[in-house]
Amino acid sequence: MSKIPTSDALRRRNMVGVEGLCSICGDDLELVEHLFTTCWVAMLVWNHICNWTRVQRFFAFSFRDLIEVHEHVGLKGKAKKVFQGIIFLRCWVIWRARNKLKFEGKQVKIEEVISEIKSIGFLWVRSRAKLSSLSWTDWCKYEIV
Ligand SMILES: [Zn+2]
Repeated sequence: MSKIPTSDALRRRNMVGVEGLCSICGDDLELVEHLFTTCWVAMLVWNHICNWTRVQRFFAFSFRDLIEVHEHVGLKGKAKKVFQGIIFLRCWVIWRARNKLKFEGKQVKIEEVISEIKSIGFLWVRSRAKLSSLSWTDWCKYEIV
């Protein structure tokens, strides 16, 4: 995870002019753990994903917790595999939102992050997860069979 060029990672590599604080909240160092687990954006998006997938809320203390959480949420089969994909997609979308804020000045909006996760996730499950018959309605209800 140290290869992700967070502000803190760049500061530790002696990048000039980088403070190392979270680009989104500015409240903590921009570590991978902070950006994807404890930053307010990560937590709000996580809450939404738990509600959407009907998975009990789980507090991730580390990035490793996040990438292993699909094993411990009670999902089975495709629903479990898709949930794992949603976690990876969530990190990617948060990273993109962080970069749009940092480099384009575009404010992070939770609704847009969630919308992007759902829409890209839908395209992904229909094309890559052998769920081509899944409807948007079932996807929004997380009815994965
Ligand atoms: Zn933050």
